[in-house]
Amino acid sequence: MSIVIIHTERFAEHQTPPGHPERPERAEVMDVVAGRWKSRGVEVAPPSAATREQLLRVHDGDYLRRISETAGRSVKLDPDTYTSPESHEIALLAVGAAVQAVDHAMGGPERTALALVRPPGHHAERDRAMGFCLFNNVAVAAAHARASGAGKVAIVDYDVHHGNGTQHLFEDDPHVLYVSTHQFPYYPGTGAAGEVGRGAGSGFTVNLPLEVGAVDEDYQTVFAAVILPVLAQFKPDLVIVSAGFDAHERDPLAGMRLSTGAFAAMTAELRGVAERCCQGRMALVTEGGYDLQALAASLDAIAETLTGSPQPARWPRSGVASDRGRAAADAAARALAPFWRF
Ligand SMILES: [Zn+2]
Repeated sequence: MSIVIIHTERFAEHQTPPGHPERPERAEVMDVVAGRWKSRGVEVAPPSAATREQLLRVHDGDYLRRISETAGRSVKLDPDTYTSPESHEIALLAVGAAVQAVDHAMGGPERTALALVRPPGHHAERDRAMGFCLFNNVAVAAAHARASGAGKVAIVDYDVHHGNGTQHLFEDDPHVLYVSTHQFPYYPGTGAAGEVGRGAGSGFTVNLPLEVGAVDEDYQTVFAAVILPVLAQFKPDLVIVSAGFDAHERDPLAGMRLSTGAFAAMTAELRGVAERCCQGRMALVTEGGYDLQALAASLDAIAETLTGSPQPARWPRSGVASDRGRAAADAAARALAPFWRF
């Protein structure tokens, strides 16, 4: 297994107002993690900016023009999405890093890439910035994979928020499966179990809405009962992960209770899918994660999982009794029963 970490210290230059959760210290944590893995022999590559052609596969041309006009300025795009004078340039590098991660993963068997990026991307819609996101990094990456010859792409999003942008961009496309675990009800409001895609894409959107307070065992339940069976039947040619760490028990934004070990376990499960379906091809792209200690520990844990030889997932035990996972799995399985075997 080869792994490349795609990262640049320049992500620090995407500034936000003081006290904003998407703060520059997140980039400093990513710097430290990238440096640590580089010293252990992992290739660390700088990103190059995404091209207009790559962005136009999912974004509206007029929207690209409006975002480009924020270059050199500080602009408030929505109630919690801001630009600094450098945000446009840095956001182009973030989405470029996601594209490079896909190129690395698609370049041969047993290749994995982890893109450490900010700003995040999964809330960005075709023509709208939202929830700290300017461009939908993972959606552009998935469209790039399709254009590069991947017949089927699975996106698994374990950020604590639902990836409304990613879902909407592919909800009528049977070639891109979108799977999300998220706190629900919560920002951005989408992601009910009944949202299963539409038209030819019906069944290719899989939502696992979890009640606030979910623990490691709840996530293990939804993986075993829904996510792994659907992925095994879908048989992706590439697995892309929207790797957010804001479901961590230390995170200040949300109310989930995942341990660091759960992120390693989810990554091991998804690596197993990639090994069985597509010769280990996997690209992970960061999303949220606002407690700096949890972010560093979780990034280290997933890099550890990706660099070692494949191992069965070892789920930690919280010891807390919770039926949140069972409830989410049952709701999703009911909604998806016409499309998949459980
Ligand atoms: Zn998030």
